[in-house]
Amino acid sequence: MSEDRASHGMELMWAPWRMGYIRSKEAGGCPFCIPPCGDEEGDRARHVLARGRHAYVCLNLYPYNNGHLLIPPYQHTGDITELPPEALAEMSELMRVGVEVLGRWAGPQGFNVGYNLGEAGGAGVADHLHMHVIPRWLGDTSFLCVVSSTKVVVQALDESYDELRPLFVEAMERRGLAG
Ligand SMILES: [Zn+2]
Repeated sequence: MSEDRASHGMELMWAPWRMGYIRSKEAGGCPFCIPPCGDEEGDRARHVLARGRHAYVCLNLYPYNNGHLLIPPYQHTGDITELPPEALAEMSELMRVGVEVLGRWAGPQGFNVGYNLGEAGGAGVADHLHMHVIPRWLGDTSFLCVVSSTKVVVQALDESYDELRPLFVEAMERRGLAG
């Protein structure tokens, strides 16, 4: 990435997006602390695609690729050793739903699945851990480096949400995971 690209990328990362704003107003700064229940409208505004009992699935506001999912627990912790086993197990189940749904939605050739723990481990929000599910294609390039404006990213997120949401509803019900 060139210098110009890099500084443009930083502008994108820190742009005061709608949801970033609403989320931080609600949660004193933590973007992943949300109420454990939500209505359809609120979940759409937060790009929450599915809810379990301990964790939920949402679209990453700063996606590597279109369809980049995050799975945070409701519990605010950055320490994976503190998270109850049932929460970790449910996050793994939600990850499998995500892989299934993204597979049907976009037919990626591969996935990156996992955690960045701590700032040094690459976590953007280090004090509330979250699992990443990223669809990958051979030769793909970071979505944020390719798109030209914040508006495009937000539109893409909304469109992706509306396509993915019914697929998640169906998959969660079929797997008996609907929260
Ligand atoms: Zn939090």
